[in-house]
Amino acid sequence: RDLAVLDARISGCRACPRLVAWREEVALVKRASFRDEDYWGRPVPGLGPADARVAVVGLAPAAHGGNRTGRVFTGDRSGDWIFAALWRAGLANQPTSTHVGDGLELTDVRVAAAVRCAPPANAPTPAERDTCSPWLARELALLPRLRVVVVLGGFGWTALWPVLAGAGYRLPRPRPAFGHGVEVTLEGPGGPLTLLGSYHVSQQNTFTGRLTEPMLDAVLTRAVELAGG
Ligand code: SF4
Repeated sequence: RDLAVLDARISGCRACPRLVAWREEVALVKRASFRDEDYWGRPVPGLGPADARVAVVGLAPAAHGGNRTGRVFTGDRSGDWIFAALWRAGLANQPTSTHVGDGLELTDVRVAAAVRCAPPANAPTPAERDTCSPWLARELALLPRLRVVVVLGGFGWTALWPVLAGAGYRLPRPRPAFGHGVEVTLEGPGGPLTLLGSYHVSQQNTFTGRLTEPMLDAVLTRAVELAGG
């Protein structure tokens, strides 16, 4: 019952046939610019210490990002954004994450995805989301000091409700709609937990200016504040 055991179990999961086929095909075919690399090609576990008070939950690994490096958000443009922002917020010791063993250390934050395998077109199905959600439930349950979950995007927002219900949190009715900066505090067995919505750090948002660095920084600053400074 610790994070390392959970990470190992997640890494061996084969519950979603479509995603297993896709992650492994991508790892075999590779992108030309990474053809000399060994792709991970498996589910991507979370990253960060068990005493984290903040969690950041994204959508799913990118085919040539986390599915290549084996580390969440690492090796793609979305990761460039999130790790730089975590560094600016004082939650990471360096602003980049390029590969396992690059010296990155996270403090007080655990980063994970709602779905652990790279999906075709970055689009898991609702069934795949629901199949994967017990992994996130177990991961959050192994973070005893958790106070804030930053949810990147509406998919993760929707995925989190059943996870939190299963963990004993009382959910508001109707469910609050996702939005950037939306803040919802729930009462649960471990005390209050605040969800903070943020537009996802996908290129559709960062290239178009829908999500800017100051917008992301504001959410993470608020998360640190809510977690106790
Ligand atoms: Fe397993 Fe989740 Fe990957 Fe499905 S998406 S195979 S449940 S790790």
